[in-house]
Amino acid sequence: MIAPSEHVLSQQFAIIGGGITGLAAALQLERQMPQSKITLIESSDRLGGVLRTRLDRGFLIEQSADMFTAESGIMLDLCRAMGAEQELIKTSSTGRRAFVARGNRLYPVPAGFSMMTPNRMDSILESEILEPAARLRLLAERWVPRRNDDTDESLQSFAVRRFGQQAFERLIQPLISGIYSADPQKLSMLAALGRFVDLEREHGSLILAAKSANKTGFNEDGSSGARYGMFLAMKNGMQSLIERMSNHLNQTQVVLNAKIGSVTPGGHGGWRIQAETADQSLRQQFDGVILATRADVTGKMLALMDPGLSRQLSRIECASMAIVVLGLDVKQIPRAPNCFGFVVPEIENRHLMACSFASNKFAGRAPQGKVLLRCFIGGSQHADRVDLDDRQLVEMARQDLAELIGLVGEPDYQQVIRWRNCMPQYHVGHLDRLASLENGMAAHPAMEMAGNSYRGVGIPVCVASGQQAAIRLADQAHSTK
Ligand SMILES: Cc1cc2nc3c(=O)[nH]c(=O)nc-3n(C[C@H](O)[C@H](O)[C@H](O)COP(=O)(O)OP(=O)(O)OC[C@H]3O[C@@H](n4cnc5c(N)ncnc54)[C@H](O)[C@@H]3O)c2cc1C
Repeated sequence: MIAPSEHVLSQQFAIIGGGITGLAAALQLERQMPQSKITLIESSDRLGGVLRTRLDRGFLIEQSADMFTAESGIMLDLCRAMGAEQELIKTSSTGRRAFVARGNRLYPVPAGFSMMTPNRMDSILESEILEPAARLRLLAERWVPRRNDDTDESLQSFAVRRFGQQAFERLIQPLISGIYSADPQKLSMLAALGRFVDLEREHGSLILAAKSANKTGFNEDGSSGARYGMFLAMKNGMQSLIERMSNHLNQTQVVLNAKIGSVTPGGHGGWRIQAETADQSLRQQFDGVILATRADVTGKMLALMDPGLSRQLSRIECASMAIVVLGLDVKQIPRAPNCFGFVVPEIENRHLMACSFASNKFAGRAPQGKVLLRCFIGGSQHADRVDLDDRQLVEMARQDLAELIGLVGEPDYQQVIRWRNCMPQYHVGHLDRLASLENGMAAHPAMEMAGNSYRGVGIPVCVASGQQAAIRLADQAHSTK
């Protein structure tokens, strides 16, 4: 009897998109199909996609993501397999809290409050972020009847219904919208925050759920804002993880500076890929393909082959954002609390959505006596701001920081990073859209999609989606030969 891998001896696969999803897919496919030839095709001149680290004047500056959750275990497994376990660092043990802007002041997020789960009643009652009546309304969540409806709803609808308007506007909107750069009136509860929907369904209330589980969303260390104990970073930045992953590729040929224009059916059930490089147009046939690019980009590639599927993919919108990075002397921000950062409610009408104190969160991000701040501007509600010039964006950040944490003087270091259409938006109905996309994909065997447009934007979910796409593709290859 011939082993499956011998059956598929000469198979050739393409992975399109060299972000962390495409890399994870390539590594997994190598494991599944050790005899095959894999080509990883990336349009830019480097691997990593949005993940990139810059070292400048003693500052270590993450250009996009700066940490990932260790919750599912997938990142620990990946780092172990890449020999990078020793490079993982935890968030600093002090200052593990976030603040919220109100007027010209910052107030701590109530201790134990994580995203939408209040774990400590006393801290809510004492919180100056909310008016006294709003604090009581938030705590009355336990008596709000559960929703008897399985349809999707927006973050705004869910949060206002359960916790009241002010808790939504002043606490939940800034804490959650920041993560997704999303419009809370459009952000799908089922797709982005499904575990809270499940808690409501199971326990009737998020407060009661937290009480009964005594661990769901619980900040054991009394921190506030996020479960910081769950987050890890790479000592030398995300770039080092990307380098480890690319160095571990054995049977994959990496092709940079090649933009895929279309994927169309080839002979014998395979796929023909057309790529544009700086000086030529290439066509190549593959037995199977993983599309690890954003949904709208993937949609364009499939436009000739399946216009309906292409249209569905293009409906998954993306938000844009600018990050103003400032390297400062500690003395230049005299009113800054010892914290990991602050968020700004939309109703405050400021320029900033949030500011991350990168050098407080992780060691080794700034020289002694200096701080590194990452200020976020734009998002789905202010996309136009991303097009302002560097000087205007820096001025916006400096103005808000002057009012909120007393910023004075010139920064030692500044950089403006723009991410245009890079943050997929899971609008209400996203899961239905995915179901119909998956139906459409069923008509195209040996073609898989993966990445942050579908079932989660966080790095661990992207890694999982790349790995799963590779496993599905390998399973099909084995079963069809
Ligand atoms: C500012 C910002 C902050 C973030 N912060 C965090 C965080 O703290 N923690 C966290 O877990 N997640 C965070 N994320 C999300 C996370 O970083 C991303 O979801 C994830 O890295 C996406 O990886 P990907 O490989 O799916 O996509 P990408 O990184 O977008 O990679 C896709 C690749 O496809 C390539 N490509 C595009 N078109 C073509 C084409 N036609 N042909 C060939 N190649 C093509 C692109 O050049 C790119 O390299 C953040 C994201 C951003 C933008």
